[in-house]
Amino acid sequence: MSFTKKIIVAMILGTLLGVTLNLLISDTFSSNHIIIKFFTLVSDLFISALKLIIIPLIFFSIVCGILSLSDDVPLSRLGIKTMSLYVFTTIIAISIGLLFSSFVDFNPVLLADLDSSYSLEQAEHKSNIFPSNIFKSLAEGNIIHLLIFSLLIGIAASRIKENIQTFIDYIYQFNMIVNELVKIIISFTPVAVFCILSKAFATQGTETLAPLMGYFLIVVFSLFVHFFVTFSLLLKIFSKLDPIKFYRNIKELIIFSFSTSSSSASIPFTLNTANEKCGIDKSISTFTIPLGATINMDGTAIMQGCATFFLASLYGIDLGTSEILTIVITATVASIGTAGIPSAGIIMLTVIFSQVGIPLEGIPLLLGVDRLLDMMRTSVNVSGDMCISCIVASSENKINETTFKS
Ligand code: ASP
Repeated sequence: MSFTKKIIVAMILGTLLGVTLNLLISDTFSSNHIIIKFFTLVSDLFISALKLIIIPLIFFSIVCGILSLSDDVPLSRLGIKTMSLYVFTTIIAISIGLLFSSFVDFNPVLLADLDSSYSLEQAEHKSNIFPSNIFKSLAEGNIIHLLIFSLLIGIAASRIKENIQTFIDYIYQFNMIVNELVKIIISFTPVAVFCILSKAFATQGTETLAPLMGYFLIVVFSLFVHFFVTFSLLLKIFSKLDPIKFYRNIKELIIFSFSTSSSSASIPFTLNTANEKCGIDKSISTFTIPLGATINMDGTAIMQGCATFFLASLYGIDLGTSEILTIVITATVASIGTAGIPSAGIIMLTVIFSQVGIPLEGIPLLLGVDRLLDMMRTSVNVSGDMCISCIVASSENKINETTFKS
């Protein structure tokens, strides 16, 4: 059975078991029951493992991203143009996610047994944006400090990269090890999803389905809007390329990235589509595609915007203008720092939650529907890379329009 099928089966079985337990023994069931304790133990172990990997994952993927960015192309016009468009589309994506989420009235029934003691501790990080002692920041789990530190190390390393080949080799190899570890942790997702959902439904009943469904549908709807409306408008406004032809050219890529759930794993396929189907010159695509797979995550940003809004309403946290602005800025940085691998986006939610003061314990609630959402958002992530690559290539006259149209 494929991994995706396993997750779907785990999701269904977990929900069914939880609901059955809740219906059969509702009076006697409490969070002290031995079965619930077991489910809690497994879920907690899984979440701890995810938290454990956050720091190395962010550090190595950012440093590697910056080092590979300057491998062929310096931060020249092409770099600035591409990066600006990537950041621009990410901001649009988060705004779409937040906007549509704000129309939904999420029901706070999922929170009965969640501990909100994190909020104060996390909210403290708001005051210092720039790190002064990286070890203190790491010990406190301050992800923004880690992002800034990783960016600085990456920039400094890329300036002297001729002299530090051994360091670069180590960094790339560490990155591979960390990504492998993430894969190992993620391979336990079906078990974790089963336990998390069984526990949630057994202790809280079927009413948990409605708010999760609301969150799921709003993410899917926002993804569709961004995919069809934003990308079409961007192509029309910035390039005059035909959006219909664009979607036709990338249809196989959409299916591929949907099944791998990984922008990084899709890079060879994306590059091939860029050159063979969209007619983008290799001098552009070899730069824009790997960069996009590393930093441009529109679908992830949409999920992060919706998830933040969803959990903020569940925890009764008011999101004013300054909080919304914090979410937009932090989610932009977080989606840039998200590795192009399965489930990385949900791990990076910790960055936004820490800044807004949402308890990290809310994240397990989202896991039940995250695998499916991961597949869909990865397709949007990769399509976004391709859309911007087409625009940049067209602005540089580096696109073969005959290939694009055929
Ligand atoms: N799976 C996504 C990607 O590779 C990242 C995420 O988890 O959102 O693009």
